[in-house]
Amino acid sequence: MSRAFIKPVLTDVNRGFWEAAADGVLSVQRCDDCLELRYPPALRCPECLSANWSWQPLSGRGEVLSYIVIHQKYNAAWADRVPYNVAIIQLEEGPRMISNVVPLSGGDVEVGMPVQVVFEDEDGVAIPRFAPTAPDESEGES
Ligand SMILES: [Zn+2]
Repeated sequence: MSRAFIKPVLTDVNRGFWEAAADGVLSVQRCDDCLELRYPPALRCPECLSANWSWQPLSGRGEVLSYIVIHQKYNAAWADRVPYNVAIIQLEEGPRMISNVVPLSGGDVEVGMPVQVVFEDEDGVAIPRFAPTAPDESEGES
């Protein structure tokens, strides 16, 4: 079965996110005027409507806010991966990101589980996903 990966369409607004991902960095937009962090990428700040922004590298740490497990073959690109999880990740710095917890088929995803970003190659595109971490791991590092 073919797995036609759906590649992201790069624009001037989201290019920085994917370029950082290719370098193994999770990065979101930060408003230059009110300093609000935002994701997904947008032309204007949802708080103050400023169009001035920079890219802010994040720790990549967060926790599972919610998740579902997909059993249906809704999309041909994902048909041979069912069942897989889709999770909302609450990032440490504030923004939330829809992603997956690895392994995709893992049935041990839990709400509140601490996770760390990992980048998985899909047809040459670095896709940010999240791997479980032990609670001590994310706090005791120096
Ligand atoms: Zn702003």
